[in-house]
Amino acid sequence: MTLQTVLDGIRNRPGTGDVIPIVDPVTEEVITEFSDGGADAVQEAVARARATFESGVWRVKPGNERAKVLWRIADLIEDHATELAEIDSLNTGMPFNQAQIIMSTAAEFFRYYAGWCTKVSGMAHDVQMTGGITGAHSNLHAYTLKEPIGVVGLIFPWNGPAFNAAAKLAPALAAGCSCIVKPAEETPLSALLLDKILAEAGVPEGVANLVTGYGHTAGAALAAHPDVDKIAFTGSTEVGKEIVQAAGGNLKRVMLELGGKSPVLIYDDADLSVAIPTAAMGVFVHSGQACIAGSRIFVQRGVLDQVVEGIALVAKSVRLGGPKEEDVHIGPLISARQLTRVMGFIDEGKRDGVHVVTGGHRLDRRGYFVHPTVLTEVEHGGRLCQQEIFGPVVAVIPFDDDDEVVAMANDTVYGLAATAWTRDIGRAHRLAKRLQAGTVTLNCQMIWDPNLPMGGHKQSGWGYENGRDGIEGYMQNKTVYAQL
Ligand code: NAD
Repeated sequence: MTLQTVLDGIRNRPGTGDVIPIVDPVTEEVITEFSDGGADAVQEAVARARATFESGVWRVKPGNERAKVLWRIADLIEDHATELAEIDSLNTGMPFNQAQIIMSTAAEFFRYYAGWCTKVSGMAHDVQMTGGITGAHSNLHAYTLKEPIGVVGLIFPWNGPAFNAAAKLAPALAAGCSCIVKPAEETPLSALLLDKILAEAGVPEGVANLVTGYGHTAGAALAAHPDVDKIAFTGSTEVGKEIVQAAGGNLKRVMLELGGKSPVLIYDDADLSVAIPTAAMGVFVHSGQACIAGSRIFVQRGVLDQVVEGIALVAKSVRLGGPKEEDVHIGPLISARQLTRVMGFIDEGKRDGVHVVTGGHRLDRRGYFVHPTVLTEVEHGGRLCQQEIFGPVVAVIPFDDDDEVVAMANDTVYGLAATAWTRDIGRAHRLAKRLQAGTVTLNCQMIWDPNLPMGGHKQSGWGYENGRDGIEGYMQNKTVYAQL
């Protein structure tokens, strides 16, 4: 599928709602536009998904057969990796090589969950309680069944379009669910090619249904739909709360992967030659548009100047540009809206007297580029340290001891990720227990493996993606008692 076919495909998507432009964040020009599918498209997609779920065309397929299809999807993603990376880098502005890495991870999701298709099963159980309201029982046999949860809505953001789609589709399909796929309105392009790939790999028609449109129309209709059994959502904490409200009508299950304000602790005994560049790129990569971006860096006072200087040096040396430019490290922000939001935080900080060590401005060129920004003398209780900015902006805050830094690190509503850099291995593991985060990395950062659960504590999420938890989130238990 060429880029032109994808662009034609999106323009011809069904929809009667508002026209949604797709803007290249590097040139600020409209690439193409499409009509919002809205509630009508959701209604049709849910009906198709429900019909396939009830018919069992995918749900009752033996696990090894589903596994073969998932494996084929992975192979086809790899076959089309260049096109997919071109589409996602055009649509998000991210460097092409980063988009390529993300595509191979997307393929791995499907391979990983292909393995689980044959491994999730219930268990047999010895019944221990022989009393019951209908009298004493003995000779009871019991077992559990793991069943797919049903029709699931998959809603995800723009920061890694094909990757975000794969992270949800792979476990949902492995579990035997029928799906409605709702990409972000800014970045629906690669979902069209993925849709073709799913069909070519053998996912029966109607099992995975693409819906394109705005969040407040199509997304909201999906979250509220009475015939949807679960919503798996990645996005902002604010929208996560709206989804929980909308899901209340039929008490559908909700899995949420939300925002973060992740702390990075750098102790004076850390290997600074690794800690400084890793912590710097741990927030600047993808222009800070990563959920696990380490946007609060706490530095033990003895090495404060050295670390601030080092991070500022990385910030100054990072090359920004579009996917077609040479030797680029990071791309632009996704949209004019996001640019306004990020600059709003920076300008507010300047008014409040924070010290801008470097950055603090957009680039003097077309595109939504913001210079990587290092801030010090930031009030920890203020918005810059409490709210997710989702831009290349880091606050550096000094600390003296464990208790002080743990209290500050945990003092936000978020709990997605946390990092500690120290050569004291005992302290590192003590910190891992004390930091309130779904993922803690010690002397490393931005690490991720499909085998290990990823989820947010506090207001960073409900439930888990990846690993066994990932597939079980799309399943429910049934307990069967039998009198022998
Ligand atoms: P967003 O919440 O605005 O939108 C995400 C998705 O939700 C989009 O598809 C959007 O169309 C849809 N949506 C918007 N309003 C909706 C509604 N009322 N009902 C249903 N759907 C709706 O998020 P964003 O700004 O696109 O993405 C950035 C956010 O995503 C950040 O907060 C980031 O931390 C988070 N994120 C989290 C993870 C994670 O794994 N925890 C990963 C990536 C991004």
